[in-house]
Order: sequence, then C-alpha cells, then structure tokens
Amino acid sequence: MSNGKVLHPELLAPDDRDSIYRRGRRLDHAGGASQPLRASTLEKQPRGAKVHGNRPIDQAEAAARFIAAPEHEKMHDERLWDLRQKRDRQMHGIPEWEELRALASAIKEHTLTHLDDYLEEFETNARANGTHVHWARDAADHNRIVHDILRDHGARTLIKSKSMLTEECGFRAYMAAAGIEVIETDLGERIQQLDNEDPSHVVVPAVHKLRTDVAEVFARTIGTDPDNSDVHYLAESERESNRPLILAADAGMTGANFAVAETGTFVVCTNEGNADLSANVPKLHIASIGIEKVIPHLEHLAVFVRLLSRSALGSPITQYTSHFRGPREGGEMHIVLVDNGRSERLGLEEFWTSLKCIRCGACMNTCPVYRRSGGLSYGATYSGPIGLIIDPTFNARKYSNLPFSSTLNGSCSNVCPVKINIHEQIYAWRRELVKQHETPFVKKAAMKAAGELLSHPAAYRAAIATADFALAHLPRFVIYNGLNAWGKHREVPHPPKQTFHSWHQSNRGEKT
Ligand code: SF4
Repeated sequence: MSNGKVLHPELLAPDDRDSIYRRGRRLDHAGGASQPLRASTLEKQPRGAKVHGNRPIDQAEAAARFIAAPEHEKMHDERLWDLRQKRDRQMHGIPEWEELRALASAIKEHTLTHLDDYLEEFETNARANGTHVHWARDAADHNRIVHDILRDHGARTLIKSKSMLTEECGFRAYMAAAGIEVIETDLGERIQQLDNEDPSHVVVPAVHKLRTDVAEVFARTIGTDPDNSDVHYLAESERESNRPLILAADAGMTGANFAVAETGTFVVCTNEGNADLSANVPKLHIASIGIEKVIPHLEHLAVFVRLLSRSALGSPITQYTSHFRGPREGGEMHIVLVDNGRSERLGLEEFWTSLKCIRCGACMNTCPVYRRSGGLSYGATYSGPIGLIIDPTFNARKYSNLPFSSTLNGSCSNVCPVKINIHEQIYAWRRELVKQHETPFVKKAAMKAAGELLSHPAAYRAAIATADFALAHLPRFVIYNGLNAWGKHREVPHPPKQTFHSWHQSNRGEKT
C-alpha cells in the first residue's frame, strides 16, 4: 500500500495491535479483520478459467474477467500485498534470514539428490512406529489406495484437512463418485468446497472471495442470512454446521508439511487446528504425503518451521505445528507416499529444484500477475509463479500459456524461502515450450518476425525511423486488433525524437 490510501474495506481492522502508520495515517491489514462490512457490495464473484479437456488454458481471458470485477481485484491485490509486507517485517526481525534460506535450500537439495535412501529410511521407521505405509505411483493409485482403506473399514464419511496433493489427485471428485462423503475441516477450503470451486491459493484457499461472496455461499448451502456478512457470524455458523459432521466422521485425512526420515514421523502446520481434528477425532487416520516432503533429521525441521509461516502469512509461527508419530491407542494410521510425476520432475535438469517448494505461497503474494488475476484464472491446481513451473510438468499442452503469465521481475525468487530460481525456470519453460511446438501460432510468428528484425541492424534502424510516422498515420486497427493482446490494455507510447543510436553517433561516435 502506498500514498497513505486506505486499504480495501474488507481489510479494515481498527483494533489490530500490529497496525502501522504512514504519514500519520493507519495502514490496515487483513490479519485481525473482523469487522462487519462497512459498505456491502453486490459485485458478482468472477469465476475462474474455462477448462476444455486438453486445450490450452486461456489464463489471459479469465484474468480479464477478474480485472473487470474491480471490488474483487482491488481486495485481492491489497490482501496479498499486505501478506507480502508482513512477511518482509518478519524477515527484517531475523538477522540470519538469508542463512536460514541457504540452509533450507541446501537441506532440500541434499534430500532430493538422495531421495530414494531417505524415503526408505522414512518407511522403515514409520512401520516401526506401527504405521501402515503405502506407495502411490500416480493420482489414480492414490485415490484407489485410500478408497480401499476406507472400504476395509466400512467408512462412509471422511474429514479432511487442506492438502494440495489431494487437489492434484482429484480426490474429492473421486470419492464423491465412490459414494464417500468428504468434509473439509479448513474454513477456507470448506468455503471452496461448498462453492464447488478449487482453492485459489495454496495457503488461503478462498482469498479471492469478498465476505459478501462467503455470505452468499453459506446462505445457499448451510442456510445462513444472506445479508449478514459479519465474519464472526459466518465463522460461527460454519462451525455449528460442520462440527457435528466432524464428530460423526468415520475416518480422518491430513497431508503433511514435512516427513522426517530418521523418526518416521510427519508434521502438519495449520492455523485452525483442523488437521488435529481430522487426525484425532476418528480412529482411522490417513496421511497423503508427496515424496518430496521428506527431510533427513528432526533438527532440520527447525529451519523450515522458522521460514514457513513467516514467508506464508508474515506470522512468526503457525498456531499448530503438530507431530504425528503413529496410531493412537485403539486407532490405525496409514501413510500414502505419492509420486504423481515427482520422480520424472526430479530428472528434469532445469526444473528439478522446483521440488524444494514448501508451499508457503510467498511467490504468489508478491507476484503482480497473480495478485491481479486471481488464482482460479490459471485453471490448474497450482497457480502463481510456482504453478507456472509445476503445471506444465503435468501437461505441457494444457498449461502451455501459463509460463507467459509472468513479468519475470524476479520478486518470486527473492522471497522464496528455499531459494528456488523461480523466474529463471519460468523463462526456461518458455524456451522448452517453443522447442516442443506448444506456443500459439501468433506468438511464434511475432517472435520470429521480431527475431528477424533484431538480427538485421539496417532493417531495425529503418523500422525505428519510420515508427513515429507509422504510429501517427496508420489506421488504429493495424496496431490495436485482436491479434495484438499487448495492445488491449496499453497505448503504444510515441517514440522519442532521437533514437539512442543517433544520439550515440552524434555525441560519442567516432568523429570523421
Ligand atoms: S516456490 Fe518458494 S515461495 Fe513459492 S510457494 Fe514454493 S516455497 Fe513458497
């Protein structure tokens, strides 16, 4: 936030002790937002990208719809930028921040380059703790394994804490088809489930929704007052509707933020304690864990725990950092270790370090494209900068447009707690997609023409010399037409009177 302007009304939180002031004016942020909406809005929530099978996702089209909803776009941009600012304040409070990042990166790179050993160690120790360990090659395998476990126990309802891995596996849809009811225990994820939408952010799944959107969803699904968008009322109503389902559930499911090889244990970080409900209320606990979540030793955990919440939400620690060692008395615990393309990604020279990701979302919060287009515009499980790298590894054609949804400003790499060179990998994907002939014809033709022009200095100078005249005299449609996506939101500036080349010739060139 700049210019001392008041943030979006959704973010007003007058009693927040962390309030900061600029030029005598308070900058409100989302952390303690708990006031009823001052001015309600009836703007409809823009929906995400249209997905048509294997056809390339048109992120720009979905983003245009998001931008056309100014209340949503402004709130989203400011809410996420606020998280970025909080993250910065936390970072400045830790003198050894860069050392922590370097350490986290080194631990992850070491683990990933010895992944087979650490996975075996984890499996051996987890089994010794009394946990059943299963291996899933892909999403279908994962869903089938979990379904088999539930069927063996006669389970018909499953409470589940937030897990991007299960989103990746299309788990909820699979279970719905199998007649098993899945109930999300994370508030944001539950909102998304009730609205039949995917999460739009890896940490704050419903961040793109205004309170009025949530009021509308709850009114439609759990019978609340549609005109009441007070967050206390909404949260309490959701709790009252969800808690009986949680207490009656046959099985519980969590993901894991980290799996520790030396102990065979795993750790789940939440701010609502909902993973603890999922894990501890029913007697059957199933944990779905991506194979890249393994770290070698318990002492390494401290490095990641210090980085995770600070990077994600700008808070020093998550409210709950829960360690799970084995089944509780009379209970049963299953771990499903899921590959789903990770081994293949590990073999990609330019992209394997994306497996270091700890899903903190900091790269999303800082990304100007993500902030202004909303996570659902990407039409993929993973959105924002990290999504641009991960998604094409699942399907290069379907997600071929995504690596172009970046300014390559490098801010994502700068905030990444595990030092992934995100913007360089996005750029590498662009090259790769051109090699794989997965770029649109118009983009390819434009780049080819630009390449020709730039590699022939005389032609380039002639083009520049006539640009001013052309801009002034050519019919507008020649420049601003359907083929020129760039021109949809921008005006071409008038070229300067003198080019750098001619200035250099007159001032610094060799005098004859
Ligand atoms: S790529 Fe880095 S910044 Fe982005 S979610 Fe992963 S760990 Fe966080």
